[in-house]
Amino acid sequence: MAAPMTARILDFDTSKLTDAYSRNPSKKTDPRRSVSRLITHLSTVLQTSIELAEILHIFNDEVRQIVPFDGIAYQHQASRYEYAIGKSNGHSSSYRLQTPDDFLGELSFHRSKARFTETELETIERLIVSLIYPLRNGLRYQEAVKSALTDALTGAGNRISMENVMARELGLASRYQQPLSVLMLDLDYFKNVNDQHGHATGDYVLKSVVHSLQAASRCADMTFRYGGEEFVILLNKTDIAGAQITAERLRSTIENLSFNFEGNNIPVTISIGAATLRIGESKEELLMRADKALYGSKEKGRNCITHAEELPNITHAH
Ligand code: GH3
Ligand code: MG
Ligand code: MG
Repeated sequence: MAAPMTARILDFDTSKLTDAYSRNPSKKTDPRRSVSRLITHLSTVLQTSIELAEILHIFNDEVRQIVPFDGIAYQHQASRYEYAIGKSNGHSSSYRLQTPDDFLGELSFHRSKARFTETELETIERLIVSLIYPLRNGLRYQEAVKSALTDALTGAGNRISMENVMARELGLASRYQQPLSVLMLDLDYFKNVNDQHGHATGDYVLKSVVHSLQAASRCADMTFRYGGEEFVILLNKTDIAGAQITAERLRSTIENLSFNFEGNNIPVTISIGAATLRIGESKEELLMRADKALYGSKEKGRNCITHAEELPNITHAH
């Protein structure tokens, strides 16, 4: 990765970008791979996609035809997006892409053999102009997709995202014959928190609980808000024993959180139901077994874990 300190800052005055686009080079004398022809071409092909990865991929393919390099790397910290293609060692030239409204991230070009010449850098800088609008649209699109799949209050995945991810993970688990477990969690006596300390405090507790769950489980992107104060955590490559261990770790993490409200300690605990995928089982059946196990934990007195296999009278799916 190029050190950000050495990055050139490219300020794009977006009001003038359209001029750059429309300055159509009609001169017949241009060599086949002239910069101005590529600029026109780029602004067309880059508009064919709204996916960041695809936009950067196209840009990489096109630009290297005119300025040879070994790889590019792009990152946009605010949206935690990173992209790299090719090699990222050797000489590099980095650009911080700034428009009056947005910071569009940092793009670096890498080449192992020789430094970029001033002429090459000028060419690269001219070509980057074509990337500005597509990149901005790609970032906005990505942000929209992300928020459509995220629960606004807690930042956990929402139901739509849970359905998608479960379908994918169940498919992978059966194809590669790997275990898959699911934890269903519910905050204990959460109504009391709202009743005694107000809804805003309840919201704050919910957010903090999700944050701690994500930090304590292996991957944050597998935590979903299932309902009000109920969450589902998917554990891929995890069997019954692994699910028990993770569940216990999460349970004790939440039990040990300390919430203070106007000098009073608010006790927060969770009950957990665990279930491990059976051969041929659907996601609905798996969730239903986890839900029954959760109910078992509530009946046992809360702040505890039940695995579906402990429950009596559950018939096998097949
Ligand atoms: P149990 O141990 O049996 O789960 O008891 P409980 O009080 O947690 O269960 P119950 O289902 O009776 O209440 C859940 C409460 O969660 C009621 C509802 O007001 C609260 N709740 C659900 N969603 C939110 C939310 O987004 N914010 C806040 N502050 N509270 C919520
Ligand atoms: Mg509850
Ligand atoms: Mg509930």
